[in-house]
Amino acid sequence: MSAAPAALRRGGSLVAAPAVLLALLAACLGWAWPAELGGWRALSIVCAWAGTALLAGSLLLMVRAARLAALFGGLDAQYRWHHRSGTVAYVLLLAHPLTLAADAWAESPVRAWQVLAPWAQHWTVWLGWLALLLLMAGLAATFSLHLPYRRWRALHYLAGAGVVTGLIHVWALLGEAGPLWLLLPLAALALGWRLLGSDLGLAARPYRVRSVVPHAAGLIEAVLEPCGPRMAVTPGQFVFAAFGDGAHFHGCGEFHPFTVSGIGADGALAVGIKALGPCSRHVQALEPGVTVRLEGPFGGFLAERAAGPQLWLAGGVGITPFMAALRAGPLTQPTTLLYFHRSAQDAAYLDELRQLAAADPLLTLVSEAADGPPPMLAARLAEVPGLAGRSAQLCGPAPLIQAARDALLRHGMPAAAIHFELFDFR
Ligand SMILES: Cc1cc2nc3c(=O)[nH]c(=O)nc-3n(C[C@H](O)[C@H](O)[C@H](O)COP(=O)(O)OP(=O)(O)OC[C@H]3O[C@@H](n4cnc5c(N)ncnc54)[C@H](O)[C@@H]3O)c2cc1C
Repeated sequence: MSAAPAALRRGGSLVAAPAVLLALLAACLGWAWPAELGGWRALSIVCAWAGTALLAGSLLLMVRAARLAALFGGLDAQYRWHHRSGTVAYVLLLAHPLTLAADAWAESPVRAWQVLAPWAQHWTVWLGWLALLLLMAGLAATFSLHLPYRRWRALHYLAGAGVVTGLIHVWALLGEAGPLWLLLPLAALALGWRLLGSDLGLAARPYRVRSVVPHAAGLIEAVLEPCGPRMAVTPGQFVFAAFGDGAHFHGCGEFHPFTVSGIGADGALAVGIKALGPCSRHVQALEPGVTVRLEGPFGGFLAERAAGPQLWLAGGVGITPFMAALRAGPLTQPTTLLYFHRSAQDAAYLDELRQLAAADPLLTLVSEAADGPPPMLAARLAEVPGLAGRSAQLCGPAPLIQAARDALLRHGMPAAAIHFELFDFR
């Protein structure tokens, strides 16, 4: 994730996602505008179509594809709009039966109750209620960030099933396709791409593990060589990697995001992987020869650096994007790298960083062991010459990034000069 100006520089694409959503809204409401109706009934129809359009749009914003993500200003921005549009759509769709009941209330309260009671209705209406229940379960999972990732993702897919059920409900009730000619193929394409292209990896590129080197306690670095066309990656970008099988290693087969820590002239990519959960712990036993499928590249962290002096701040495995930048060649701007790690055993790449700093007069390295946000953070920042005039790039755990961001703002650095990448998004 990075500050808004960086996303804007990535192609003015901060407006792309809302623009697509507005276009879908306009197309649906333009077709279904209830000009001859008034009051609650008209509102109910508007809610139904606006919700359906936003739901189809939220499916499109869930597709994980490098070009699409670049168009939408990065995967993090794209997922934010996916969540926003899904939530607003759910509220609008919930308002649909309620406004229908409000319309029937004018006739009689019994009639209003009949509108809301599914057992008094036809199967086409049951589908609508089922869609709302599935969407509710999917949304509840979305906001339960404490759920283990796999369970979170499985429950989140219920919302996808809700969208399909809702679209069938509309078709069955309408008796004609109308705007569904647009929304159904869009939803089918988006779901198909996400499930088959991204999650099953049909669109991924084949790589093979060339070497594996342990770099710190619970952190390996794997060099991956292309088995076909190579990916054009720049320092700061990340890929989704799914490790397959080797002679003694059986991968978990799931795609996980890892920032590239080195880019070889022959197209090989290095990734540093810290044991943080079940799959990344399992990957610590990785061996050369294992096949890997890669998707990406994604992200624009470090892509646009202001011309002046830089402040880089890394926490733990958040050092990986800076490794890729430093390994790419000598710096062109004075850069101070603050590297915080838990202990000496956890300080991945430290020897190599010291060598790089000794060889490059533009690089100043400050490394410090600290558990959690470093108590000396503000003091360390205050020691950086000309701090307020620098441009900051931060990568690491959320509490460290938050503490660093607050401290930099207090030191007078403009918010637009602070860019950051979190290793966590859903
Ligand atoms: C942009 C980005 C760059 C990253 N770069 C690195 C890196 O260079 N080195 C490194 O060691 N780690 C990196 N990570 C973190 C790494 O992806 C997770 O540690 C790993 O996926 C954990 O999976 P797990 O099964 O071991 O643990 P889990 O317990 O399953 O996951 C731990 C957390 O990792 C995140 N996560 C897991 N799977 C995914 C997924 N498929 N998509 C998005 N988030 C997921 C979730 O927030 C989850 O709560 C990065 C994450 C992101 C988002």
